[in-house]
Amino acid sequence: MTGKITLIGAGPGDVELLTVKALRKIREADVVVYDRLINPELLHECHENCEKIDVGKQPNYHPVPQAKIEELLVTKAQQGKQVVRLKSGDPYVFGRGGEEGTKLKKQHIPFEVIPGITSAIGGLTYAGIPITHREYASSFHVITGHLKSEEQALDWQTLAKLEGTLVFLMGMAELATITDKLVHFGKKPTTPVAIIEWASRKKQRTSVGTLATIYEIALAAQMEPPSLIVVGGVVALREQLNFFEEKPLFGKTIALPDTQTKNMYHRLIDLGAEVIEFPPVSFNWLSKPDRLPNAADNLVFMDPHSVESFAAYLVKAKKDWRYFSQSHILSIGPQTESTLNKLGLLPDSTYRTLADFWSISKNQDACNLYIGETQGIQEIQQRVKGEKRQRFWVTHEELAAKIPISSITTADYIYLPSSKSAALFLEGLTVEAQQVLKNKKIIVMGELTGNRLTSRQIPVIQPAEPTYESAIETILQEELHEKSDHRC
Ligand code: SAH
Repeated sequence: MTGKITLIGAGPGDVELLTVKALRKIREADVVVYDRLINPELLHECHENCEKIDVGKQPNYHPVPQAKIEELLVTKAQQGKQVVRLKSGDPYVFGRGGEEGTKLKKQHIPFEVIPGITSAIGGLTYAGIPITHREYASSFHVITGHLKSEEQALDWQTLAKLEGTLVFLMGMAELATITDKLVHFGKKPTTPVAIIEWASRKKQRTSVGTLATIYEIALAAQMEPPSLIVVGGVVALREQLNFFEEKPLFGKTIALPDTQTKNMYHRLIDLGAEVIEFPPVSFNWLSKPDRLPNAADNLVFMDPHSVESFAAYLVKAKKDWRYFSQSHILSIGPQTESTLNKLGLLPDSTYRTLADFWSISKNQDACNLYIGETQGIQEIQQRVKGEKRQRFWVTHEELAAKIPISSITTADYIYLPSSKSAALFLEGLTVEAQQVLKNKKIIVMGELTGNRLTSRQIPVIQPAEPTYESAIETILQEELHEKSDHRC
């Protein structure tokens, strides 16, 4: 059976500007064929076995020819695959989506198109420029600046007369021609112009001038493609409407472990940071003992996965929570507590961290059954040192994933929320990456977490409280210091 091809517009670059429908299709795809301007973070959404083909760049740095791309799409679809053709912005705005669609239709291959936010509109928005405005522009025109390849040259006389906002794509190589022609055919040299490089990405930069000055300004600032050239009065509104470049963590990258909750992740993005997640750790579920635990033991749950694993074990052993009706239930970490809550259980006490449990809990001398993964259990074992009444139940082992060195080199901050995540992080690093670490700002939660790094002579920063809000506050404070240092 023939597969299907979905042409998708991925938007200008901020990964969250993808449509809900596009996200589902990317997750379902067997093959994703993508272009040069696609934010590589998007590809993390593909499933494990998805084939990802970069047609933006070949080993000799030339893009794959259009005819070859079309052939590739047809072949993959004929093999019965669900193929996603991922393009930047909108597929039909200078994206050759029309050509690819026609070719597929001719070959009777089912295809559909999911529109995206074009950089010609959304890219301007991220630079604080509305493409229309009642006082400045009542129309807009999106124009290719790739002048040499056009069969018909642009009608400059008409373009220069237009009152609406002019947006040139692919125009950087022809910036001087564009500004000269517009002035030559009658646009005022004082008309405002903006150039936006890598719109909506962490590396976004904007230069502002007029038709008379922008060429020199762009040259001095070394503005390069991909950039948008915006001509018109709306450019002036940037001073009032700029929001993205003014966010407190704009331009900063923070690397952190992949978590289920994403609280920290989303908060950082909202503050303007680009966030890199380390690849997820894998789980090795351990076989269970054949003897039921003692019904009188207190249960100390050390992480959310252990709760789920233990609950599943009980059902298999033909028991339910009533078996432990005499026991106290204790949980370490708020996520562990909420997982217990989902199972209808209210822990008697919850501790934020293992260190808290150790310093505050009155239960350490009672008969406890600690339920957790290998590392957490090892930490407890070191502390109780053979105390007979303490028992242990290892549910699983977490295996570190290899961390690409690029996520360390590009990061301004690394955030490690727990001692376990710090251990897995260090395990996943190459020796080379460990060296780079010494020059990074590493925010750690809790003393135990910090010790993992300081014992290797890697400096860390401790937030005032072991909460993610406090970690964010620390990053913001660091940024303020950095900015005032620059000013001095
Ligand atoms: N289909 C795309 C445009 C593809 S043509 C869209 O709708 O946005 C490629 C040109 O688009 C680049 O040369 C540049 O001019 C512009 N472009 C695309 N993404 C951009 C971005 N994030 N920042 C600045 N310009 C961008």
